[in-house]
Amino acid sequence: MPLQLVTIPCLADNYAYLIHDRDSGQTAVIDVPEAGPILAVLSAQQWRLTQILITHHHDDHIQGVDTLRARTGAMVLGARADAHRLPRLDLPLDEHASFAIGTEFARVIEVPGHTIGHIAFHFPDSRLVFTADSLMAGGCGRLFEGTPRQMHASLQKLAALPPETLVCSGHEYTASNLRFALTLEPDNPQLISRTAEVADKRAKGLPTVPVRLQDELATNPYLRAHLPALKTAVGLPDADDATVFAEIRARKDKF
Ligand code: ZN
Ligand code: FE
Repeated sequence: MPLQLVTIPCLADNYAYLIHDRDSGQTAVIDVPEAGPILAVLSAQQWRLTQILITHHHDDHIQGVDTLRARTGAMVLGARADAHRLPRLDLPLDEHASFAIGTEFARVIEVPGHTIGHIAFHFPDSRLVFTADSLMAGGCGRLFEGTPRQMHASLQKLAALPPETLVCSGHEYTASNLRFALTLEPDNPQLISRTAEVADKRAKGLPTVPVRLQDELATNPYLRAHLPALKTAVGLPDADDATVFAEIRARKDKF
């Protein structure tokens, strides 16, 4: 049976996610911007938190970890490479490390770029990937530590997952990401219809995440740097994909 997924808005524009395995009763949270909203959902669902999964070291993803650990006794899992700047890890993780939530197995994907130690969590059986500030809905995270080439390679790994995978990212930035995407591909029909759907959801106060990977592949410019249309749009028709990616990211920084 697939994991149950709950999207939890936190702070101004962050998301945490709960995943719950009905058979074992195990429940994990991915990122802890603040403990309060997560504790509220746990208590409403009567779920016991067993694991805390951390994607990267930024405050808006880890601030609530110590409170949540103290209140629930959950184990904390995060990147070994960033152990020195994360809350205390009970299980340090490297690329391809695997662990289980109940009977569901998860695999760690290293996705450097936004930060060097950023990781994503892939649950192949439930077709979920938690990407935080690497691949985002309609965009990708800012390059605070890594190079454009590193981020491009990271996103390529995520783009290779099965297209029906649900991408669970860390922020509600979708509307502005799509506004930027439209400057590059004003005639992309899927991008146009997605922009309208996102505006509609936001008007209703609904999250625009998670999103199917196949919809990202069709509309997210950072996953489309290999296409002639994108290369031409940034004036680099003959450049390699990573160079085009770097130019797209640089333009967004000034957008
Ligand atoms: Zn971040
Ligand atoms: Fe963030």
